[in-house]
Amino acid sequence: MSDNIFLNEAINKQPNIVNHFFNMVNNRDLSHAYLLNGNSGVGKKAVAMSSTMALFCKNKINKQPCGKCNECRRITDGQHPDVVFIQPDGQSIKVEQVRTLKAEFSKRGVEGRLKVFIIIDAEKMTENAANSLLKFIEEPSGDVVSFLITTNKNMILPTIISRTQVIDFPTLSNRFFDDELKKIKTNPNDYNLLKSLTNSLETAKNLMNDDWFNKAKSAVENWFNYICKKDYCAFTTIQIEIMPLITDKNSKQQIINMMLQIWRDMLSVKYLNFQKNEIDFVDDFSNIDSFVIEISSIKLISIIQIMLECNNKMSINLNFQNILESTTLEILSELR
Ligand SMILES: [Zn+2]
Repeated sequence: MSDNIFLNEAINKQPNIVNHFFNMVNNRDLSHAYLLNGNSGVGKKAVAMSSTMALFCKNKINKQPCGKCNECRRITDGQHPDVVFIQPDGQSIKVEQVRTLKAEFSKRGVEGRLKVFIIIDAEKMTENAANSLLKFIEEPSGDVVSFLITTNKNMILPTIISRTQVIDFPTLSNRFFDDELKKIKTNPNDYNLLKSLTNSLETAKNLMNDDWFNKAKSAVENWFNYICKKDYCAFTTIQIEIMPLITDKNSKQQIINMMLQIWRDMLSVKYLNFQKNEIDFVDDFSNIDSFVIEISSIKLISIIQIMLECNNKMSINLNFQNILESTTLEILSELR
């Protein structure tokens, strides 16, 4: 295995896609423009970089770039004169950036020399930038291959989409995701919950920042355990433990998702006979297991309904603390 970081990542995360690109390079089948679409952390940039290396590498072994020769190294370090990157300058990719790129390319333009450009966060192109780029894709001066990278192809102009080959990157396999979670020192008991909350490694890593995930999980567990005991302290948990964790819209949604998941665990244990390692709140299995015996089906279904409504209220911008408090009161009165 190569020690080139991009090559390694591409082969580990997306072996099918990257090999498809190696084959196309080998057969001189490559199109002018590709839109690589998928969640953050699924290896889009690594595939673009590896395919670019395959185009320039002087030492290919079985269609694969070596990752070590001068060409490969310069591409990896972002120093190759014929490989150019564009990424957002602040909030957007501006038309001037595309113009500069075009000017640079035409200056360097030795007729017929291969050039690659890689656009990171392509959905952040302004309309002008996209249009300017479009002309470039349409009338490539010489051999140009472009990789547009995006986490959301729905935000890319249809005119751009229609002129690129769209490659949808699948989410990472469960096992790969587990391995990566292990690397960021996550407790294995939390893998199921993390995977329910996100299928992006990037988001999983952000959740682990400043111990946010552990604090949020323990706040939701406390809230749930008070509810199991029909204790009105569940109500105060919201103000004291949960609200301090709310920093933005995202954190609100993750808290609601966690609350929903713990009630889904109740359903799974009650009706699907889920065992400890199959639920999201693995550490709370014994509590959940004894509470499902106590609670009637009708009440459990009503509570799930209340939780789903709580999720809906999020979209109408009501005060978050009010939403959680009224949801908690509704659940407690359902249990009485
Ligand atoms: Zn090489």
